[in-house]
Amino acid sequence: MGKIELMSEDLANKIAAGEVVEKTMNVVKELVENSIDAKSNEIKIELIDSGIKEIIVTDNGIGMDKEDAILAFSRHATSKLKTLEDLFYINSLGFRGEALPSIAAVSNVNLKTSNGEFGTEVEIDGGTIKEVKSSDLKKGTKIIVKNLFYNTPVRLKYLKSPYTELANIVDYVNKMALSFPNIRFLLVNNEKILLNTDGKGNLLKVISNIYGIDLAKKMIPIVGENEDYEITGYVSYPECARTTKNNIIILVNGRAIKNSEILKVIIDTYHTYIPESKYPIIILNINVDPILIDVNIHPTKMDIKFSKIDTLKDLINTTIKNKLESINLIPEIKSNLSIHNYHDDSFQKQNLNANINEDNIDNKQSENNLLEYPLDIDSTYNINDNDINISKLSKNQQNMNYLETKNENRIKKMYPVGVVHATYIIAENEDGMFIIDQHAAAERINYEKYLEKLGSNDNTNIELLVPIKLEFSNKDFIILKENMYILLNMGFVTEEFGINTVLIRNHPYWLPNYAIEESIRKIIDIVILTENFDKYKFIEKVAATLACKLSIKANDRITINDMEDLLERLRNTKNPFTCPHGRPTIITYSNYELEKLFKRVMN
Ligand code: ZN
Ligand code: ZN
Repeated sequence: MGKIELMSEDLANKIAAGEVVEKTMNVVKELVENSIDAKSNEIKIELIDSGIKEIIVTDNGIGMDKEDAILAFSRHATSKLKTLEDLFYINSLGFRGEALPSIAAVSNVNLKTSNGEFGTEVEIDGGTIKEVKSSDLKKGTKIIVKNLFYNTPVRLKYLKSPYTELANIVDYVNKMALSFPNIRFLLVNNEKILLNTDGKGNLLKVISNIYGIDLAKKMIPIVGENEDYEITGYVSYPECARTTKNNIIILVNGRAIKNSEILKVIIDTYHTYIPESKYPIIILNINVDPILIDVNIHPTKMDIKFSKIDTLKDLINTTIKNKLESINLIPEIKSNLSIHNYHDDSFQKQNLNANINEDNIDNKQSENNLLEYPLDIDSTYNINDNDINISKLSKNQQNMNYLETKNENRIKKMYPVGVVHATYIIAENEDGMFIIDQHAAAERINYEKYLEKLGSNDNTNIELLVPIKLEFSNKDFIILKENMYILLNMGFVTEEFGINTVLIRNHPYWLPNYAIEESIRKIIDIVILTENFDKYKFIEKVAATLACKLSIKANDRITINDMEDLLERLRNTKNPFTCPHGRPTIITYSNYELEKLFKRVMN
């Protein structure tokens, strides 16, 4: 009788395991979150063959007593989690124990744990406890999961390539390291160190561990709050844009979540700063009273609903926007050969140290001491804890900086010296040499001008000497008629004129005289094509389209006086750094870089 029950439980475990444990990442996730729940501040994850052969997670947490160690792998173990919202109270990752039986059911598990008084070792094969004995572990927990899915070959077959499995694990551990900068994470695959953070609580340093020091230097701290929400984090300079959204990481009370609305507002904020289909790198932490969120959990993803999401979206938008508007965004050209070498160097050094220390891994002493691994690569960093610590900047300081830069031009005066291929203006000032794309620059100037005119509700207009007659398809004509008020609000005076035809009698005063018919056509095209009319988006689109149409082009010959005028007007724009499509308008060689390139300075 007892045996039958045991077998059915075994079966149930295997079935359940399929839901929770599909990838090696799921195992790592479960073990790491248990370690965090156990109040560890050092977590070491060692993999063999992307975890398919072996996963070892070692922590320095509170450990378990003998009873808990045995119960941990039983289905009957109860979860500490009372409600899903509990997850978002700090320090509760909630799933404690939930998936351990599932993992044990499809692998060989060895658990060593100690609560500081005495240690226990438990050996489990395919969900059955084989041996329980005392362990010499001093404090913490070490779990070895071997031969995942050895007894369910079908599942084994469904594992992705080792590369994909590993990429998922790295992605997950990166997110945890960013969520918990106070915990030291060490991730090793086949003895190669993939991530090594110091656990000292400096988020920027974690960013540099993950993305490299060059990128960390291009991350800007942000802080903002309203009545219900507080946001902190780092946003990248527009020039660091990537081709995937994967590097936009949203944390709620320190826990990584997915939320398409928040993601969208972040991407929109960078609109016109970076080209479409490129995305910034952002680590955004949202602190909120868990009462204000509603959590929905599926085994694989976490969905969150925020109350008052509009105020949160607004907060994120204005905080990031204000920041981007307060800094110099001219990309500097660097002969960064040396920087790359520098970085590779430190990486090799880490690996080298890892190899040296590899002998110690199984050594009893090191069992509980992660510090055997090379910890501090501080010496290779220019960033130190006091440097850019957002918590140390008070909100007032930040606002002051913002106001200061807001009232003056964002770039210094530049003096043109010539033009290359009738396209790139070369200019100079005391800081260095500048290259300006004449079309992109003119586009930015005109874009801001049209944006202002279109948003002003001033519908002063000019009468055309000869009205312009425009003919449309029957379908377009219907849409246009329905939206005619948009044109009227802009200052157009129109008149229906026969079948599917409109006469334009007056046009807004700010529309230049040349290319008038083409411009009107463009505007009407946008009116027809715009679904779900959103005034701001419409205005922006019209402004960008007209700016592109009506600005000097590449290959247009302009005089040095025109250049002077163009550069001065660019300097007076709100965002002189990019055209409305997100392409750069200016790049620079600093004096130092020029000297370096010509070997006038050596280093
Ligand atoms: Zn253009
Ligand atoms: Zn453009």
